[in-house]
Amino acid sequence: MSRIALGVDVGGTKVLALAVGEDGTVFDSERVETPHVAERPAGDAAADAVMSVVTTLTQRNHWSLRDVVVGVGLPGMMSREGVLVFAPNLPTASGADLAAALRERSPEMRVLCENDADCAAVAEHRWGAARGHDDVVMVTLGTGVGGGIISGGELVRGRSGFAGEIGHMVVDAHGPRCPCGGRGCWERYASGGGVARLAREAAVAGRLPTLVRQYAGDADAVRGEDVTRAAAEGLPEALAVVDEVGWWLALGIANLAAILDCGVFVIGGGLSEASALLLPAAQRHLSSLVEGGSARPPLLVIPSKFGERSGALGAAALATQRLT
Ligand SMILES: [Zn+2]
Repeated sequence: MSRIALGVDVGGTKVLALAVGEDGTVFDSERVETPHVAERPAGDAAADAVMSVVTTLTQRNHWSLRDVVVGVGLPGMMSREGVLVFAPNLPTASGADLAAALRERSPEMRVLCENDADCAAVAEHRWGAARGHDDVVMVTLGTGVGGGIISGGELVRGRSGFAGEIGHMVVDAHGPRCPCGGRGCWERYASGGGVARLAREAAVAGRLPTLVRQYAGDADAVRGEDVTRAAAEGLPEALAVVDEVGWWLALGIANLAAILDCGVFVIGGGLSEASALLLPAAQRHLSSLVEGGSARPPLLVIPSKFGERSGALGAAALATQRLT
């Protein structure tokens, strides 16, 4: 048997675990809903959920916990020591030392925790859409925007481990409030939540008359999904909103390209179902937003290969790399 790593991705809504071989082959998977229990110590419920998917996978496949390594991807600022220091989109685990909590539950288990989008970047770089490229930014569009930076073929971690928090790059200092406490963060425009907000704004401003009519004139009822669905069907007013989201996506990418000079942007996360329209829109706006757009080699904005599985896959890859 090739060595098996378990990769676990703890998201805002679900915990996904994959059993992954050294070449990226997925042998088995398991998922549960993410518990949000504020009454217990931070991260306790999340640790139980991780332990439950890990136990299910190992028992089902007759593996001992001693024989596997476990990587866990978490949303938020992960310190190099594995503490989830700040998690605006998973507040009940904010401040938790998940690795310690897991070792308490199972002392023989070898485990590491890392930021979920960093994990996704590793998976896409090693086995996926960014294979063969050494300067890459992974952008995960979900509840928020996560980021993982590969520079010169290596994951950029930063002094404390917090590098790549690209969703909280401020693109409008007077913009809407963000769960992080700031204003006008990129994720308020380019995430699933951002699409919902821009859709509602467009509806209230009278730019989505067909969709508002479907809700009997209630502009506040128009959701992000309505806009992406109508855009996929070719409704011009919805396409205009998707184009606006694409512009915001391109703006953040242009900023990152100016700083990092990376050539490939891999877009993943829950919103990537809308990528067939969103990515070409971002690509169209990019050359006019980035410094020296026509003077630099083309910047590629491409969809992730593994979609919502990239975080768990990369967590497994990192566990193999660092724990064996
Ligand atoms: Zn923010």
